[in-house]
Amino acid sequence: MIQRFNARSIGHLILASVVAASTLGAGQASAAEAKRPNILFIFSDDHAYQAIGAYNDPRRLVETPQIDRIGREGMRFDRCIVPNSICGPSRASVLTGKYSHRNGFYNNSNSRFDGAQPTFPKMLRAAGYQTALIGKWHLVSDPSGFDEWQILPGQGVYYNPPMIHNGERVKHEGYTTDLITDFSLEWLKKRDKSRPFLLMAQHKAPHREWSPPARHLGHDGDRVYPEPETLFDDYSGRGKAEHDQDMTIAATMTPHDLKLTPPQGLTPDQLAAWNAYYEPRNAAFKKANPQGKDLVRWKYNRYMHDYLGCVKAVDDSVGRLLKYLDDEGLADNTIVVYTSDQGFYLGEHGWFDKRWIFEESLRSPLLVRWPGVTKPGTSSPRLVSNIDFAETFLEAAGLPIPEDMQGRSLVPLLKGQEPADWRKSFYYEYYEYPQPHHVRPHHGVVTDRHKLVRFTGDVDYWELFDLKTDPHELRNVLDDPANAKVVAELKAELARLRSDLKVPDEPPPEASGRNTRPAAKKAAR
Ligand code: CA
Repeated sequence: MIQRFNARSIGHLILASVVAASTLGAGQASAAEAKRPNILFIFSDDHAYQAIGAYNDPRRLVETPQIDRIGREGMRFDRCIVPNSICGPSRASVLTGKYSHRNGFYNNSNSRFDGAQPTFPKMLRAAGYQTALIGKWHLVSDPSGFDEWQILPGQGVYYNPPMIHNGERVKHEGYTTDLITDFSLEWLKKRDKSRPFLLMAQHKAPHREWSPPARHLGHDGDRVYPEPETLFDDYSGRGKAEHDQDMTIAATMTPHDLKLTPPQGLTPDQLAAWNAYYEPRNAAFKKANPQGKDLVRWKYNRYMHDYLGCVKAVDDSVGRLLKYLDDEGLADNTIVVYTSDQGFYLGEHGWFDKRWIFEESLRSPLLVRWPGVTKPGTSSPRLVSNIDFAETFLEAAGLPIPEDMQGRSLVPLLKGQEPADWRKSFYYEYYEYPQPHHVRPHHGVVTDRHKLVRFTGDVDYWELFDLKTDPHELRNVLDDPANAKVVAELKAELARLRSDLKVPDEPPPEASGRNTRPAAKKAAR
């Protein structure tokens, strides 16, 4: 039923869509035509699965009833992994269904998204969908393929954000997560109700520097958070890359990250609420003057308070969007997706940030509700990825899938099927180095049980991790003679994946982001 073809023109797309529909049974075809599903894609930034109730992290960090609802009424994916664990590259992979080395967006430093390339929103739009993108974009070039877009410039800010609305600069007052939801709802209300829609509601939160809204500043009652088992990881037995990174809670977090200095750009009312919460707690911290591990623990708790306060606002926003679908009778014919552009460290290995092939950054949350198709309350352990999203949405809309996309539609899994030939391994690549967090380039292969990774750049070494015996990835077992066969098999699998995915032997010089964008261009966006 699903055809793969070269998407050379929009005309071909529509023609091929008709051909695809004609291969369905007559009853199915008319049903598919009559009820093409709406797609609500809710995308957060750096939202760790550990900070979503539905993922049952043992620390029970936060309750997220609205996000959990999507999983309770749909499917929770337990191993959704990303091809390159940072913001811009992940977003480019979502749009194109391709790896960084195929869509050209390698890093957040000097990559610029080529908006002329095919993307799934363009294909949906050409097939009659209304399309909108509201919130964080972070791909430098202007969005293309959307009837309406309103984006944060660059990373965006948490309070009173400037935004760019269909090319016009605008400035808003309020909390950015709430505003993105306001604008998403406004667009839904004014849309053409005779046609299906794609809405991509994309939050800045809970990205660094984790500024909660005033209403959630006291959300945790000064809770002392359980620590991850690896908060004081010393990286022993692992290589230079792990020792040399610059992303620890202990050493890398700034006074600004830790809310020891006041933020910029708040209104007097916002600043008063902010200071009422932070000033007495900062004074108590300075008086206690903790040192060593106690200081790390204080930073970890402040980080958790702030990060999780941002998560609570995202959860509120998800609730508002779900309520709109309920109130308007749209829930039954709308696919709702909640996911994040990658995972994130909440103190594991002593870290914040992302980038690594290791589990907390590799894995993103993925919850999908599709009434009538996906059985409520189900979960899938299969290896899936954000490069699968484009193909999933195209198939859901009854459209053909371009043959050069590199993922695989999740529709069979969402229908409860278990395809025997589902992927057993996944290729990972990371390029951005040395800035901003000094994580060396690496690539590797991921399976249900193992990771084989090669660190490159100014180093060249391999590591093997066995998730079954070492779920926290603390022991490199590459040189254990018992693993010789596994290493040989995984090296062969890595070579096969690199060949299939057309990975160049050497990345292009710009992939590391070392030659950053000219300052003028950066300032303009
Ligand atoms: Ca991100």
